[in-house]
Amino acid sequence: MSTIPAAERQAYIEKVRQDFPALHQQVHGKPLIYMDNGATTHKPNAVIDCESTFYKTVNSNVHRGAHYLSDKATEQFEAARRTVQNFIGALKPEEIIWTSGTTEGINLVASTWGRKNIGPGDRILVSEMEHHSNIVPWQILAEEKGAEVVPIPVLDNGELDLNGFAELMEPRVKLISIAHVSNSLGSINPIHDIVRMARINESVVMVDGAQGVSHFDVDVLRLDCDFYAFSSHKLFGPTGMGVLYGKEELLNEMPPYRGGGEMIDRCSFDGTTWNQLPYKFEAGTPNIAGAIALGAAIEYLNSLDRKILAAQEDVLIKKAHEMAAELGGIRIVGEARKKASVFSFLLEGAHPADVGALLDQQGIAIRTGHHCAQPLMARLGIPGTARASMAFYNTEAEVEALFKGLEKAKTFLL
Ligand code: PLP
Repeated sequence: MSTIPAAERQAYIEKVRQDFPALHQQVHGKPLIYMDNGATTHKPNAVIDCESTFYKTVNSNVHRGAHYLSDKATEQFEAARRTVQNFIGALKPEEIIWTSGTTEGINLVASTWGRKNIGPGDRILVSEMEHHSNIVPWQILAEEKGAEVVPIPVLDNGELDLNGFAELMEPRVKLISIAHVSNSLGSINPIHDIVRMARINESVVMVDGAQGVSHFDVDVLRLDCDFYAFSSHKLFGPTGMGVLYGKEELLNEMPPYRGGGEMIDRCSFDGTTWNQLPYKFEAGTPNIAGAIALGAAIEYLNSLDRKILAAQEDVLIKKAHEMAAELGGIRIVGEARKKASVFSFLLEGAHPADVGALLDQQGIAIRTGHHCAQPLMARLGIPGTARASMAFYNTEAEVEALFKGLEKAKTFLL
């Protein structure tokens, strides 16, 4: 239970909202209520200004230190890497690889660590609640290697079935790749316990952190996972940018991902050798402005009181659940005991797409459908859900507006 007085929390959030220009607009003639943060978050001025300032001033390529601006760009680019390192508690900046997003981070591990270490008959465990981007890269790898992707079961309430997981552990399991937080249900998975069990089995653990870092502090050392991937755009930073954390000894043993400039030590027709970490995995000109602006997003978050932000998200999801019970006719999809501020639901008798369209007319942005988690929808026996995914800048008044909207939808659709 939060000990922060409600009035203090609400005043703080109102102030924080002023930092996000896109929140203050009208859609369909109504004030925007943005509850699609699981898809992407809005950006604070600090990020927008940072990216624009980069292009207006130091814009240059990095690591080609022939001139003043290139040196400045490189300094800012590498400072952003250290900001990310500190943000997730990694030991060294070399363990932070820039990617284009979570999807690329997972594909990188599948194509490099996976190609080297997965063989015929091996097993890769992923949970039934994974996003397609944490299923398909492993299926491609398994197909190539004669290995098997095996689902870890999910309970009816949306929690991972830890007993089911324990039963699957055996020597053939070489890798477990699992979401920190489910994008469709909000369930927070017990990564620490999973890693502990994986260690006994000597399996490697990759965490899909796409929905984790935006909701709470992540410490990769404490989690003791081997890989952790996330996307900047879900963390209030720019699109086309992401991070893959990997333990140094694993990254060092992995072959490169893509060939090109920057990732080589020496290149000749007699053979090519690889650059040191992290550059071995960063072929070609990176998203320089994106990396620097992601650094700005994290610095912005660091400047906020994350206890208040977490308390806000807690209040919002509890309120949504309470109001759902009051309204009636709502089936909440995903009631894990540990849950982020993701409210996935079905309005009984109505199609989620119609609910989404009616809410949109009222200025309320949610997402409907399978949320790139078709195996989960099949497991739950539903075609999809309506999902209001909330960030700390959402308010209790907005949750009330969502339920007013649902009340209207009920009269209209049922
Ligand atoms: N994993 C999860 C849990 C997600 O929610 C998403 C995006 O919604 C992804 C992976 C893919 O992220 P991106 O499209 O930014 O690569």
